[in-house]
Amino acid sequence: MTIARVVVDVPSSQTDRIFDYRIPERFEAAIQEGMRVIVPFGPRKIMGYVLEITDHTELEKVRDIESVMDITPVLTKELIQLGKWMSNHTLSFYISSFQVMLPQVLKAKYKKELHRLTEEDLPEDLQQLFAGRDYLDFDEVEKSSIPLSRVQRLIQEGLLEVNYQVDSKETKKYETIIARKGSLLELEEAMVDLPKQATKQWDILRYFSEKEVEEVSQKALLSILKTTRASVKPLLDKGILRKYKKEIYRNPYKVDYPKTTALPLTEQQQEAKDAIQANLAKREHEVFLLHGVTGSGKTEVYLQAIQEVVDRGQEAIVLVPEISLTPQMVERFKGRFGSHVAVLHSALSAGEKYDEWRKIQRKEVKVAVGARSAIFAPFENIGIIIIDEEHESSYKQDDHPRYHARDVAIYRGQHHRCPIILGSATPTLESFARAKKGVYQLLSLPDRMNKAAMPEVQVIDMREELHAGNRSMFSKPLISAIEDRLEKKQQIVLFLNRRGYSTFVMCRDCGHVMECPHCDIALTYHRTQNKLKCHYCSYEENMPLQCPECSSDTIRYFGTGTQKVEEALTKLLPEARVIRMDVDTTRRKGAHEALLTKFANHEADILLGTQMIAKGLDFANVTLVGVLAADTMLHLPDFRAAEKTFQLLTQVSGRAGRHTLPGEVIVQTYTPEHYSIQLASTYKFETFFQQEMQVRRAFHYPPYFYLTLITVSHPNQVKAMDVTKQIAQALSQTLTQQSTILGPTPSPIARIKNRYRYQCVIKYKNEPNQRENLKKILQKYEADIQKNDLLISVDLQPSQLM
Ligand code: ADP
Ligand code: ZN
Ligand code: ZN
Repeated sequence: MTIARVVVDVPSSQTDRIFDYRIPERFEAAIQEGMRVIVPFGPRKIMGYVLEITDHTELEKVRDIESVMDITPVLTKELIQLGKWMSNHTLSFYISSFQVMLPQVLKAKYKKELHRLTEEDLPEDLQQLFAGRDYLDFDEVEKSSIPLSRVQRLIQEGLLEVNYQVDSKETKKYETIIARKGSLLELEEAMVDLPKQATKQWDILRYFSEKEVEEVSQKALLSILKTTRASVKPLLDKGILRKYKKEIYRNPYKVDYPKTTALPLTEQQQEAKDAIQANLAKREHEVFLLHGVTGSGKTEVYLQAIQEVVDRGQEAIVLVPEISLTPQMVERFKGRFGSHVAVLHSALSAGEKYDEWRKIQRKEVKVAVGARSAIFAPFENIGIIIIDEEHESSYKQDDHPRYHARDVAIYRGQHHRCPIILGSATPTLESFARAKKGVYQLLSLPDRMNKAAMPEVQVIDMREELHAGNRSMFSKPLISAIEDRLEKKQQIVLFLNRRGYSTFVMCRDCGHVMECPHCDIALTYHRTQNKLKCHYCSYEENMPLQCPECSSDTIRYFGTGTQKVEEALTKLLPEARVIRMDVDTTRRKGAHEALLTKFANHEADILLGTQMIAKGLDFANVTLVGVLAADTMLHLPDFRAAEKTFQLLTQVSGRAGRHTLPGEVIVQTYTPEHYSIQLASTYKFETFFQQEMQVRRAFHYPPYFYLTLITVSHPNQVKAMDVTKQIAQALSQTLTQQSTILGPTPSPIARIKNRYRYQCVIKYKNEPNQRENLKKILQKYEADIQKNDLLISVDLQPSQLM
């Protein structure tokens, strides 16, 4: 007996295991590990992944696999292992881990249909239901008054049948191909035999013989020869030509990119490349941290390392943050590796993504470039994995399975014995600390290409602006710098950091920010109660009427949006042409690109935007970058606030003066003395690292301690709070001396969609049994989760504590 071990598509903790099914003889040859199958599960038929095929089972009775959904496996053996590991590592269901690896269309719902197998003999009510159709949606049956037991009986009697249909029309696209059946000689012989009046048929055959082609798309053939299908048909009937449907790929990037070749490397680039190359030659796994300022030539190092890998017949995965996956970025990879590149981008349609994935699966490409989930590219001979801008928090998935692409990369790197390159101008503290300890190998590119200086950064104290009577959101120096560039016909990027707005309370007079007396973190303003709360320790106080530092009454929560800025800007400088880029103006597909193209063509003077303009953009004519309020993010209730502020300011500054024109950066802030603003404005990463590490050590944050975030939500506030309290108590009994639990406290976003959210955070250095303990504790709430709408999420590596 052949047994398939299957993970079924039911995300729940009772079904989160492997089930045995018998493989019926008729499928024995067809089923392989990594394929999707349909299996009976209770009264239902559901999809599952075959993880293993064996010849024995512990079970006395096993049910049969119902049908097979794939012709070739969708998961490789390595990905099956990876999925199991990821489930354990992130405490996610097996099924979620496998689903996340595959393109959307493969996860499409399959439709259950009821087919009638006979014309007569159906009972009256079923006749009516079918209403003359051959088949109908099973939903219709379930909605009708006909009892399912009767339908089941009719199925047993062979009058009806249930079928499963994958409900996705996007899976494949076909093209009709006309092909020559025999040799060229045979074709030419057939031409001689044609009747004289069959001129169109003669044209067609002459096309095949003159061009010496095997096949051509029917559409092309008909249009070239200005003829119709009617003239092809007799040739098909006579068996001279044949017709078939061929799968075609949609091509989202239609442009042909000009070919580029390797640049002669600078000494520093060469050193970095040599180190990577030595590793490639040894076929060893190692993690490199490539620390290089923006414009230092990291991408060129990536490209040449990939070339090396491709020359060895191996494959490469390159991760870039979603917002950096601009046409400019794609062009650099396509320009070097041409059609050997697949691009996995969220802006592609589901069908286009599937096409790109298939190219990887079929080994038609060597390089996969994409955002986070591209880390699951189904390559089988990986030679290098590159994660650009490794500090980006988007590499962590905040939903099931809560994986970090860096961890997955390292797991795959160990399997394939290949190097991992983490690149950044502002690496995470975690990665840089590991590099300092020698866990990662540090490679540095300290200088910009052509030794261009990093742009000068001027920090403007907005408190002084206020004191000088300027109540607008633009400081005097920023306005005059903008006017200067408008005159010189140079361009300007204005950056508004929207994250963090309206959550913290600050005195506009002295810059004082209301902080928790126990946690060294900004208090969050709760508008409904007019209170300030700490999201780490649940300390709260009333919203003050006066600043506790300077008694000014200009203390208030902070808030503005890009639209407001745009209005203010056009009032102040009516002649300036402004492009606003934020979630509102870029929602439409392609809008993002269109706006950037407009800016690149100098159809606007100022590009005003949020986070999405901070990265990857490279415009020669931009000589001024303005940051409207550098400190908004600094006061987020997040221990990474200083780090993220430093990273963002560095990124934004990198947008100016990338080419021959020198650049200037103006940073407006209410806290000019803060070390992350000071050190970002002088590009002192190392100093920032040292200083921030001290803070992390003092407050027991990563990388000195690990964090686990547990969030409980429920429509009833008391219930959510109680469960969180119970969990925290149960956990505290399992933890070692060195670990602590913070909370329970309300989550920073205390209610979402009418669900109350509470959280607790474990800070620990070493808790080898943490996953087991968490699992046990969570199991107690299984019934509540199933029946009472309780949700508990565990994040073993939270990117933020929200
Ligand atoms: P990063 O990825 O670190 O921001 P890039 O790789 O984009 O840096 O390099 C910045 C600019 O310098 C690009 O325009 C790139 O083409 C150019 N460049 C990179 N390496 C070299 C080199 N060895 N010689 C000449 N130009 C280079
Ligand atoms: Zn004050
Ligand atoms: Zn606190």
